[in-house]
Amino acid sequence: MQDSICYLNGDLGPLAAATVSVLDRGFIFGEGVYELIPVFNGTPFRLTEHLRRLRRSLAAVVIVDPFSQEQWTSMIQELIRANHGGDQAIYIQITRGAAARNHVLTENIPPTVFAMSSPPPSSAETIPIEAITTEDIRWQRCDIKATSLLANVMSRALAADSGSQEAIYIREGYVTEGAASNVFISTDGHIKTPPISPRILPGVTRDLLVELLEHTGTPVHEESISIQQLIDADEAWVTSSSREMVPVVRIDRDPVGDGEIGPVFRHVQRIYREYKAKVSGRS
Ligand code: PLP
Repeated sequence: MQDSICYLNGDLGPLAAATVSVLDRGFIFGEGVYELIPVFNGTPFRLTEHLRRLRRSLAAVVIVDPFSQEQWTSMIQELIRANHGGDQAIYIQITRGAAARNHVLTENIPPTVFAMSSPPPSSAETIPIEAITTEDIRWQRCDIKATSLLANVMSRALAADSGSQEAIYIREGYVTEGAASNVFISTDGHIKTPPISPRILPGVTRDLLVELLEHTGTPVHEESISIQQLIDADEAWVTSSSREMVPVVRIDRDPVGDGEIGPVFRHVQRIYREYKAKVSGRS
């Protein structure tokens, strides 16, 4: 990882040598947005959707998009090649830029544009996880993919402290999402995920599953999930670009259904893998 190549403000170079100002507003205020794009066989997966969400996040925090769609695409492709293609993930971060510390910015400054290669999703084996539920202590704009992830980091640490791998957020009695994932449940073969709203990140993996399953006999119902419905579900799983689909077999230490990976998860995973193999030659 340390000898990987990154992109910083127009240049490609070793990650270990990349530096930004301590006055960068990303460092001082956490004022920035990001994306994580999986790459399979050298090809970015769902690139259009990731770039669309990146533009949306930038617009929401009023940072001017530094690149056109073509410029983003060629920078990402160059970075993938510089890191030897194959399977990897491209992390992109744009912050407001560096200026004297002041909440209100009075000058026009160029944004800091950074991208690096990260390890790819590990999809060879399906390893189930345990999750905790925890109060959603985040802000009201969880639809923005903001770099300020303090609450998410705290919640993941809380999960880790109790031997779990994800924290599922509950707001006013309803599931929002995981600290780094979207949540799905299945009850009597009926698949549900919370609807798109400012309370959740519109996950690219979530949206892909909704889209793919719409054409099968098992559509996803985008409906609110109460904590009781989560606890009573036959199956639960979380989705993200970095972990793809992961079955959750225990929540707050109690088994979900029979505590094993369920048939609905296997079905959905098969559909996802078929799509992935079709577009990238990998499963
Ligand atoms: N929700 C949160 C809070 C996340 O951090 C992530 C991914 O990092 C997701 C959902 C899943 O989004 P995606 O599938 O686009 O990776």
